[in-house]
Amino acid sequence: MVGLENLDIWLSAMKPRVAVIGAGWAGLAAAVELAGQVDLTVFEAGREPGGRARCVGAGSQRVDNGQHILLGAYHECWRLMRKVGLEPEQVMQRLSLRWMRQGGMQMQCPPWPAPWHLLAGLLTAKGLSWFAKWRLLRALQVLQRQNWQLSSDCSVLSWLLSQQQPPSLLKEFWRPLVLSALNTPLELASMQVLAAVLRDSLGADRAASDLLLPKVKLSALFPQPAWLYLRAQGVTLRSASRVQQLGASDGKVMVDTELYDAVIVAVAPYHAADLLADEVVVRLLAAYRYYPIATVYLQFAQSPRLPAVMCGRRDGAADWLFDRAALTDEQGLIAAVFSAPAEDSLGDRQALVQRALADVQALDPSVGPLLNSQLIVERRATFASLVDLPRPVLSGSLPGVFLAGDWLCPAYPATLEGAVRSGVSAATALIDGFSKR
Ligand SMILES: Cc1cc2nc3c(=O)[nH]c(=O)nc-3n(C[C@H](O)[C@H](O)[C@H](O)COP(=O)(O)OP(=O)(O)OC[C@H]3O[C@@H](n4cnc5c(N)ncnc54)[C@H](O)[C@@H]3O)c2cc1C
Repeated sequence: MVGLENLDIWLSAMKPRVAVIGAGWAGLAAAVELAGQVDLTVFEAGREPGGRARCVGAGSQRVDNGQHILLGAYHECWRLMRKVGLEPEQVMQRLSLRWMRQGGMQMQCPPWPAPWHLLAGLLTAKGLSWFAKWRLLRALQVLQRQNWQLSSDCSVLSWLLSQQQPPSLLKEFWRPLVLSALNTPLELASMQVLAAVLRDSLGADRAASDLLLPKVKLSALFPQPAWLYLRAQGVTLRSASRVQQLGASDGKVMVDTELYDAVIVAVAPYHAADLLADEVVVRLLAAYRYYPIATVYLQFAQSPRLPAVMCGRRDGAADWLFDRAALTDEQGLIAAVFSAPAEDSLGDRQALVQRALADVQALDPSVGPLLNSQLIVERRATFASLVDLPRPVLSGSLPGVFLAGDWLCPAYPATLEGAVRSGVSAATALIDGFSKR
C-alpha cells in the first residue's frame, strides 16, 4: 500500500522523464504544455528565459533585445499567455490595422468586420494613387481565390511583378511589409510564406489583422510568467546550463550525462546542428541563411511628438519608429527598427544612431537634445524566409527526440507565433508517442 503522503512521489516516479532544451518562446510553449503530465526539466543556456525575444542589459539600461510586433492572428501565443496567468489585452496595446509613413502611404482601417475594414482603410488611404489601390486589392483577391496557396513557390518580387504592382506600391507598401513580416528582402523572400501570413491576418476575421504592441517589456510578456508558472508546477528549471551533446542509450536519450525518456530540442537552427546527429536535418540546415535586425534606442529628455505610436517616413532610414513612452511608459524613449540591414551599414554604429536620430528630428523638428542612445544588433535575428526553404519534420532520426523552434512551423516566417505553434506541436507529438507505447 502506498501512503497518501507518498502518492505524489510515487506518481511522479511513474511519469516519463522529459527534457526541453532551450527556453525561447518555442521551448517555453512546449514546457508549459507538458508541465504536470511528465517529469520535466528545462535546460537554458542563457541566464534567463526568452531567447530572441527577451530583455537585455542591466538595471535602468535594461531594454528589449528588439521591438516586437504581434498580430491578432497569434492565437497560440494568446492561449499560452492565458495559461500562465496573463491577460493578453492587459499586456498589449491593440490597434486596428494601420500604416503611417509620413510623406508616404497612410492608412487606418476602421474596426469594421472583414473585409470591409480593409476596403474602407484602402479607399481612404493617403499617399497611393487610385490605380495603385486597385492593383493592391486585385493582388489580394487573386491570393484569396487561390486559397492563399501557390502552385509553386517564387520570390515575392517576381509574384508582385506578375500581378502588375506599380513601383510606388512596391516601395510604399510591399517592401516595408515584407521586411517587417519576413525580415527578408523582397527579391529573395518566399511568396508562399508571405501568403500564409496574409491568409492568417487579412484573410481571417478583422481582429486577426489587428496589431498588438507590448505594453510591458518583452521578458514580462511571456518568458518570465511562463518560467514562474513552470516552477509552480514543479518543473526543474536549469538556467545557465548549455547542453553539450545528445546520445542514445537503451531506447532512452542521453542529455550530456543524464538519461531521459524523451527530449524536445527547441534551439535556433544554427544551434540545432551542434546537438543533432541527424544527417537529414543537418543537411537541410545548410540551406539556412540569417538576417540581422538592428534596434536603436534613443533617449530624449522629453518624448518626441511622433504622428503615431508606430510610424515611419517616406525615404526614412529606419523601417519603423516606436514611441516607447506611449507603449511601455518609458518616457522620452524611441525605438528605431532596421530590418535586414545591409551588413556594411552595421559596421559604423554611430552612423546608424545618427540616421535614426535624423528620422525622429524630421518627424518632430522641435525635439529636444538626445541624452543617450543604445544600439542592439541581433546578428542572426531570424532565418531568411527563402523560396522553397526546407523545414525538417518534427522528430529526428534519434528516437525520442522531437524538434521545436520558429524554423519548424511549416511555411511560416520566424515569428513568436511560429515558435509557440512549433512548441505546442512538439509537446503534442511527444505525448502521443507515449500514449502509443
Ligand atoms: C530583434 C528581433 C525582432 C523581432 N521581431 C519580431 C516581431 O516583431 N514579431 C515576431 O513575431 N517575431 C519577431 N522576431 C522573431 C522572434 O523573436 C523569434 O522568431 C522567436 O523568438 C524564436 O523563438 P525560438 O524559441 O524558436 O528560438 P530562440 O528564441 O532562439 O530560443 C532558443 C533558446 O535555446 C537556447 N539554447 C541554444 N542552445 C542551447 C543548448 N545547447 N542548451 C540549452 N539551451 C540552448 C538559447 O539560449 C535560446 O534561449 C524578432 C526577433 C528579433 C531578434
